[in-house]
Amino acid sequence: MLETSPPEIFDCQSCGACCAYQADWPRFSLESDEQLAAIPEQFVAADLSGMKFDVDASGKGRCAALTGTLGKHVGCAVYAVRPQVCRDCMPGDPECHMARKALGFAVEDLPDPDVYYG
Ligand code: SF4
Ligand code: SF4
Repeated sequence: MLETSPPEIFDCQSCGACCAYQADWPRFSLESDEQLAAIPEQFVAADLSGMKFDVDASGKGRCAALTGTLGKHVGCAVYAVRPQVCRDCMPGDPECHMARKALGFAVEDLPDPDVYYG
């Protein structure tokens, strides 16, 4: 998410939906202690289960590390050390579709992951 490989497949930096989908995304899973220690603690949930998820007064939430404006231009403040689930989510995969639909973003132009990622 946020940077596709190759980036011309889809511009995740114009989206960010999977970083704002729900509070228990992204959770930590396969990361080593060293990998988790590299994520600045201000972005980590109090129970250490995953990234911190900030919810605003209107009830909308997003990963604490997400910068910018959803659907316009976003970035990840911990991109180099982001959790595994963030590395696994690819534009056009089922989780991507779910997140974009939940936020009201179009899914028609998403790539077919079977074509691009094998
Ligand atoms: S850590 Fe970065 S890539 Fe992962 S959900 Fe948060 S903002 Fe998105
Ligand atoms: S929801 Fe899909 S298109 Fe949007 S940032 Fe995540 S992987 Fe990229």
